[in-house]
Amino acid sequence: MLHSLWETIKRADAAGPRPVATTVPETALSPGEDLVTLFLAPDSPIARSTVPVPYYRRGEPWDAIAGQEGAKAAAVVAAAGRHNLLLVGPPGEGKTLIARALATILPLEDDPGRSPFPPFVPADQTCTAQSLIGTVHKDVPQPGLLALANRGVLFLDELPEFSRSALQCLRTPLETRRVIVNRAGGHATFAADFQLVAAMNPCPCGRFSPEEDSASSVIDATAPTRKGCTCPRNKVLEYQRRIGGPLFDRIDVKAQIERLSVGKRFKKAHSTLTAERCRRTVAVARARQQDRWGQPGACNADASPGDVQQFFADYFADNGPMLKHVEDVAEYRQLSTRTVDKVLKLALTIADCERIDDEQGPPLCKRHFTVAADLATGAGSSLVA
Ligand SMILES: [Zn+2]
Repeated sequence: MLHSLWETIKRADAAGPRPVATTVPETALSPGEDLVTLFLAPDSPIARSTVPVPYYRRGEPWDAIAGQEGAKAAAVVAAAGRHNLLLVGPPGEGKTLIARALATILPLEDDPGRSPFPPFVPADQTCTAQSLIGTVHKDVPQPGLLALANRGVLFLDELPEFSRSALQCLRTPLETRRVIVNRAGGHATFAADFQLVAAMNPCPCGRFSPEEDSASSVIDATAPTRKGCTCPRNKVLEYQRRIGGPLFDRIDVKAQIERLSVGKRFKKAHSTLTAERCRRTVAVARARQQDRWGQPGACNADASPGDVQQFFADYFADNGPMLKHVEDVAEYRQLSTRTVDKVLKLALTIADCERIDDEQGPPLCKRHFTVAADLATGAGSSLVA
């Protein structure tokens, strides 16, 4: 039945850095069952203190998302380029569903030692830094949630509600793709190459929206006057800034979840973003990226500043007007060098996604850069600049 994760953990230290194998054979899933629970050793602190690891079956939730075409498109781009994603919007509108659905459109693993399904590891605000990083139990290092999400998705719900120490411990693994568990006389390193998907309400009451704010911008900022939202503007800012700039910077895509009216929800609308098409989009876009960067499994989000520099120096040498456009976008939005890199990588992913039906397809165009800048900065979302 279930592969013994415990055995893998015991071997991890002897073998040095290695991915944590968390394997669930497809046959372990009963018909109609959408998740399987893997437990660590019953007496381990991680098993007691953190959530089990669920694996969602492919194909179940994506087509169940009603409306939210913009957020779905952003999720496809994030999945295709392996960009970290932040979903912002009111409670109860499907942020968690979209996060779960994203995991179902990712390419299947072809490593015979692993489950074909990429792991989806959810965590909520009760999660401690230790449960994210891992711990040592009876002198055996145990992976935390960051390592369990290796090669899959780590989903942090209600991001601003996490403790400061939990948020801080995400920063280094997001850069190095590894997590270190310190132990007496040394340390153990686990692979932690996860895609971060996070969700948050825009404000403490959850109802703050960009349109309502701009419409009331002349009103006293401390007055709870915005329609539906009872939070003073300084509280909205305080809430959003709990995430912290360095972590916010490591999230490439910020997407807005709309408040869905009853009419919109039940309107029969034809969505082009079906699960089948989105999976194909992600697979084709991934193949393009592998060709571009010349590494197995390489994605646009993983490109180093040097890679971006080299690729776009060649590209802009042949496309002067496009360089001018990116310069204008960066100047108008006051983008840092790091954000410009993010915009360039996202523009590539958007172009990769749009070219699935046409091998030659249109090249990068101005719209790709503009949309990428919107996604990277959260323009049009409830995030306050
Ligand atoms: Zn509010």
